[in-house]
Amino acid sequence: MGAKPDDGLLRLARRDLVAMPAYAPVEPPDVLAKRLGIPEERLVKLDGNENPYGPSPKVREAMARYPRYHLYPDPEQRRMREAVAEYAGADPARIVVGNGSDELLDLTGRLFISPGDAVVNAPPTFGIYEFVARTYAAKLIEVPRREDFSLDVDAMEAALAGAKLVFLSSPNNPTGNAVPPEALERLLAHEAAVVVDEAYAEFAGGTFVPLTAEHDNLIVLRTFSKWAGLAGLRAGYGVFPTAVAETLRKIKMPYNMNVAAQAAVLASLEDREALLANVERIIQERGRMAEALGRFPWLRVYPSQANFLLCQVQGRSATDVQLQLRQRGVLVRYFDAPGVRGCIRVSVGRPEDTDRLSEALAEIGAGVA
Ligand code: PMP
Repeated sequence: MGAKPDDGLLRLARRDLVAMPAYAPVEPPDVLAKRLGIPEERLVKLDGNENPYGPSPKVREAMARYPRYHLYPDPEQRRMREAVAEYAGADPARIVVGNGSDELLDLTGRLFISPGDAVVNAPPTFGIYEFVARTYAAKLIEVPRREDFSLDVDAMEAALAGAKLVFLSSPNNPTGNAVPPEALERLLAHEAAVVVDEAYAEFAGGTFVPLTAEHDNLIVLRTFSKWAGLAGLRAGYGVFPTAVAETLRKIKMPYNMNVAAQAAVLASLEDREALLANVERIIQERGRMAEALGRFPWLRVYPSQANFLLCQVQGRSATDVQLQLRQRGVLVRYFDAPGVRGCIRVSVGRPEDTDRLSEALAEIGAGVA
C-alpha cells in the first residue's frame, strides 16, 4: 500500500471526469437536523421539491405484500411500462423506465453523445443536464435565458446547427416557467434530439407527450418523484421514438429498476385519484404561498407552474436569508448561478409549512436574530 493510494490509481482515470465539478444535491434531513441541533420532525423541508404528502398508503401495502424480493426484476419491465403507457398516453414500445428520471437523462446522454458532440443547454436550469453533458465529454453550448427566464429561441436555433441534443425542462427548475408550444415547435424543426423534461408536468396541467407521435426527434421525460411522492424510491420514465426506446432498453443495465420501486409505481397509478388530489392541494398552496411571500417587500416572487417558487431577494443577501431560515428550521435552496444570483427557491409544502416559513421570514425581516 502506497502513501496516497487513491491519487495513485487516478492517474489511469479519465482526466475530464477527475476534474469535473461535483453536482450539489440536497442534504438529508437527519444530517442537517443534527448539525443544527433541531429535532428532525421540527424541520420544514422546502429545499428538494419533494411532495410533502408522501406516497399513497397503497404503496406501503403493495411493498409489504410483494412476494418476489429474492428474484431479479423483469429486465423488460413489461408491467410497469404498460401501466405507465396507459397513464402517459403513449405506446409501451416507446417507454423506457429507470431509476429516477435522472437515469433516463444519463442513458439519453450515453446513447447520443460522443466526446466533443455539441449539447445545447438553457441556463438557469436543472444542473443534471450540464452534469450529463460533462459526463459524456460533450461540448456544452450554453444559451442563457432572457431576464424573464423565457428561452432565447433565436439564439437556441443558431446553437442547434450541428448539435446532437438540447435539454429543456418544462416547467423549468428553478424558474418555474413552462416552454411555450411555439418555441418547442421551432426547436423541433432542427435535426437535434430535443429532450423535454416534464418532472413537474402534473403541477402545470400540460404535457408534450402527444407531440411525440408527430416528431421523431422529441423525447419527453417524466417522474414519480414529485406528483406521486416517490422521490426516495427512484422511479422515472421517458417517452421516446420506438427505435430509440428499443436501443435504450438494450444499453441500459438489465435490472436498472428495483422491484420495490416497480410495485410502488403500479400501486401509485392505481391510486392516482388520491395522488392527483394532493397535487391539487399543492397547486392551491402554491397560490397561497406566493401571496404570503409577496407580502415581504424585499422578496420578488416569480410566477410558477411547478411545486416551488423562485424568489429574488432584494436589498439583502440571499445566502444570509437562507442561513437565517435554516437556523429557524426552515430549509430552502439558494442559488449563486448567473441569472438566479441572489435568489432562493422554496418548495411548496402543506399550509402549516407556509405558516412556519412566513413566521420565520417575518422574524428575519424584523431583524430578530
Ligand atoms: N428533472 C428536473 C427538472 C428536476 O427538478 C428533477 C428533480 N430535482 C429531476 C428531473 C429528477 O427527478 P428524479 O427524481 O425522477 O430523478
